[in-house]
Amino acid sequence: MEETRNLIIIGGGPAGYTAALYAARANLAPLVVEGFNWGGQLMITSDVENYPGYADGIMGPEMMADFRRQAERFGTEFVTDDVTEVDFSERPFKVVVDKDEYRANSVIIATGASARWLGLPGEATYQGRGVSACATCDGSFFRGKELIVVGGGDTAMEEATFLTRFATKVTVVHRRDEFRASPIMLDRARNHENIEFITNAAIDEIKGDGKVESVVLRDTQSGNTWEQKVDGVFVAIGHDPNTKLFVDWLDHDDAGYLVTKPGTTETNIAGVFAAGDVQDHTYRQAVTAAGSGCMAALDAERFLAELEGHAGTALTAPRPEAAEV
Ligand code: NDP
Repeated sequence: MEETRNLIIIGGGPAGYTAALYAARANLAPLVVEGFNWGGQLMITSDVENYPGYADGIMGPEMMADFRRQAERFGTEFVTDDVTEVDFSERPFKVVVDKDEYRANSVIIATGASARWLGLPGEATYQGRGVSACATCDGSFFRGKELIVVGGGDTAMEEATFLTRFATKVTVVHRRDEFRASPIMLDRARNHENIEFITNAAIDEIKGDGKVESVVLRDTQSGNTWEQKVDGVFVAIGHDPNTKLFVDWLDHDDAGYLVTKPGTTETNIAGVFAAGDVQDHTYRQAVTAAGSGCMAALDAERFLAELEGHAGTALTAPRPEAAEV
């Protein structure tokens, strides 16, 4: 049987690694179960220009490698695999990775969020062959091509603008004629000579022959459909939190984001904390995720110190249904 650890951090993005850095420096010897694809969303980003301290910008993967190395330097242990199950019914909490079971008196959840897909015919078939949810990862494959970006938020505007570096024409397809995107990003896209907009329109099908060749578009008001030739479709319709393993245990909102007590990273189970995009659908920045990772480590440290102060008393966590919110 594995020893009971102080702290397990689930998730290897800016929040998880920052939590690990702080916890390791506080001598908590954290274990980070960082996921098979560690690094989080920044691994599919190119230039990061808005992380303070990198005055000349940095590539996303390089920055995450820096984060990881900094946590490692102070003694963080890593498991490069995905958590398959958790049991928060009592302390020590259980975190299962396939056949391996880890136990800890506190857990920080920092599993982030993932891009949403449309769920259309053809979408899954042509992923990697013209369908993508990441302009910065796949844009350069579309030099001289014509692309569609789906969505009306900041991500869609950012991706459309970015894709003009490669594509000759980018068409933003949005299901309404009002946009969630901030005015500055919308205007930047609107004023770009290689970006066109089709509003009040949805994609019904992505068609191709080995790779994307066209889409079937539908006017959301008249219902009329038409086919348009295109070389690639970038889906930019938002994100979902990676909380499937936790929603049976922890309070969450309707979209599945974990709910933390205002001003803290505490969930409804004492000793379980949440940091980063998994509990934040508003800011979703690397720097805010890192900040809340720091908060979670400090919260966990205080929780463990208090637990130690009460050594000898029962260390049983409340069951989810009985937990205080
Ligand atoms: P948003 O939720 O803001 O926008 C999602 C867009 O996708 C909406 O226009 C929505 O349409 C559309 N959409 C959702 N589901 C579907 C569907 N099934 N079919 C068609 N369209 C759909 O997500 P974003 O990822 O754009 O942004 C998330 C957050 O990140 C925001 O707070 C944003 O400001 C921030 N962000 C900031 C950036 C920056 O400052 N550099 C860059 C990128 C994001 P509808 O409006 O009709 O619901």
